[in-house]
Amino acid sequence: MASIFSKIITGEIPSYKIYEDDSFLAFLDINPNALGHTLCIPKKETDQIFDLDDKTLSELIIFSKKIANAIKKAVVCERVGMSVIGLEVPHVHIHLIPINSMNDMNFNSKIEMTEAQFIETMNKIKSYI
Ligand code: 5GP
Repeated sequence: MASIFSKIITGEIPSYKIYEDDSFLAFLDINPNALGHTLCIPKKETDQIFDLDDKTLSELIIFSKKIANAIKKAVVCERVGMSVIGLEVPHVHIHLIPINSMNDMNFNSKIEMTEAQFIETMNKIKSYI
């Protein structure tokens, strides 16, 4: 069965898409740790990041760098943190999180965002890519 993220790639499930190319997609996390929390995924479905072939893994990191640099410009933050967990969704994803404190990397501490805030944040990050 296709993962939730594969359904986001095809548009079957709606999302706030920031950028995509033939192989990768970046979109806002629906339950963010912080405003601007973004997920970068390979379009080819693989569960665990270290099962990716070396080429896809390195290209995913380079893709994430492009997105992180745009997030840094779009969102006021000290830096952009990066995390890989995957306990909830078995489709490789890199979390990019604008952080000001260690607590922003705490996945048990979430923020509420309105639809308008998601759209505004998506458009702002997109404008820096
Ligand atoms: P993990 O698998 O790394 O533990 O967490 C999965 C992440 O995906 C979570 O931060 C969660 O909020 C996010 N997520 C789960 N389902 C959806 C969804 O349908 N849309 C979006 N945009 N994010 C999702």
